[in-house]
Amino acid sequence: MAREIGRAVGAGRRAPQRGTAELVARRGVVDTALAMSRGGLSPGRSGNVSARFEDSLLITPSGLPYDLITPADIVRVRLDGHVPPGQQAPSSELLFHLAVYRSRPDVGAVVHCHSMHATVLACARRPIPAFHYMVAVAGGDDIPLVPYATFGSEELARHVADGLAHRNACLMANHGQIAVAANGPEALALAEEVEVLAEQYVKVLMLGTPHVLARDEMARVLERFSTYGRNGKA
Ligand code: 13P
Ligand code: ZN
Repeated sequence: MAREIGRAVGAGRRAPQRGTAELVARRGVVDTALAMSRGGLSPGRSGNVSARFEDSLLITPSGLPYDLITPADIVRVRLDGHVPPGQQAPSSELLFHLAVYRSRPDVGAVVHCHSMHATVLACARRPIPAFHYMVAVAGGDDIPLVPYATFGSEELARHVADGLAHRNACLMANHGQIAVAANGPEALALAEEVEVLAEQYVKVLMLGTPHVLARDEMARVLERFSTYGRNGKA
């Protein structure tokens, strides 16, 4: 681990002092990013992952192949936007990750990817309606689509923050999807659910006009989701 820290700050520079909690959090970001990539959700070098840590976020570096990223390559950025020097370049989507943590204090991790079917729908500019009750997994009766803006832009960050104001996942026009949760594994699991729903929806569209569940039915589903899976836990 110490060797990796030395690598992150470059030869000849002193490694920053990092506590065990930060090293564990960095490992978590790497593990989530690797699982996303190996799960086929992020073709090539696309996508990025971050986690909230103290007054900062920890985010994947820009454009590095996932298999090569070590905990030392993860970039620490303060939530006020300050990027301490001596690190890799942070993900080009730093602005939307920052926007999410600032506007959603409950969010602990963000997963962004260009998973195939979510991206197909995003490129066709089709949000996912309640064609299946599982759409409620994202926290509402649809998975919305936010407008297109250039990757890495302030405008895209505003659109993403708006799209996630009342949902935990959304599609991004002509780009991909984003999912948020309390921690990395949960955010990744939600991104996987969104991809499955997107694939199902694409196939349903091929068969004809989908039957979309009514609002009052989705309200019942959302009510059930608030207690589903607790297995007797309070
Ligand atoms: P980064 O490698 O800079 O994170 O970019 C990937 C991406 O998906 C941009 O939207
Ligand atoms: Zn992207």
